[in-house]
Amino acid sequence: MKKYSIILLLFIVFLILLQGFPKKEEKHQNDMEKNQLLYRFYQKEKEERYQQYKQTHPEMEDIDIITRVNLNLDKPYYEDAEPALYLNTNLVFVNKYHYLEENYEPTSLEKLEKCSSGNRLLQKDAKEDFERLCEQAEKEGKTIRVVSSYRSYSYQKTLYDNYVLKDGKEKADTYSARSGFSEHQTGLVIDVDNAIKSFEDFEETEEFTWMQENAHRFGFILRYPKGKEDITGYQYESWHYRYVGEKVATFLKENNMTFDEYIARDLARQGK
Ligand SMILES: [Zn+2]
Repeated sequence: MKKYSIILLLFIVFLILLQGFPKKEEKHQNDMEKNQLLYRFYQKEKEERYQQYKQTHPEMEDIDIITRVNLNLDKPYYEDAEPALYLNTNLVFVNKYHYLEENYEPTSLEKLEKCSSGNRLLQKDAKEDFERLCEQAEKEGKTIRVVSSYRSYSYQKTLYDNYVLKDGKEKADTYSARSGFSEHQTGLVIDVDNAIKSFEDFEETEEFTWMQENAHRFGFILRYPKGKEDITGYQYESWHYRYVGEKVATFLKENNMTFDEYIARDLARQGK
């Protein structure tokens, strides 16, 4: 009887070890992958800035430090701004360090034919996919309506200048983009409501929940998510959706990643 107990005990120990080994292996694998990622995003000429950022953010993981410095987040907003990246593609990148020229107009603007509160324009791919999104939502009893889409440079300038008059420059900068720095000028962005509540309360609607679950299937992402303000440079905006196409939108959703992080790592991958 005792002999069997020992054999049973050994067998249990064996099972535990068997469980433990692959986990250890897996952890090693994760570390390896992380290091490889770091190596890919790391840009030697930014070494000094990485080190400085690490000193002021000692709790932060290396990969996040590299991502933020690659995005210029160690500099004040709008400083050393450069022209927008990937112009005239669905991945055009506009943020507080990348701008569109005053005379830039998207190439394929079309008028939204449905699910819009007025005469509103979007680029062709974004328009077609948004209309599919809206039809599907309608089938499921949800109303999603565009209240703002393409905004020209001069329109954004009027908006921003009015906010500055009202609240002062510092405050206006926290909630409104300066002209040239607004994603709305790309023609790939929509602000939405549910035709009942104000767009600012979109988070409280069941349409918001629907968007959380489905927007990526039609190529849209929540561009300024909660908890990522320090990366996007914008307050959380539950109503602002950006078109990037289904593939990238799905990748970002699955990886809980912002478009900024995607671009920062993508750029590094290409050695820019
Ligand atoms: Zn917006």
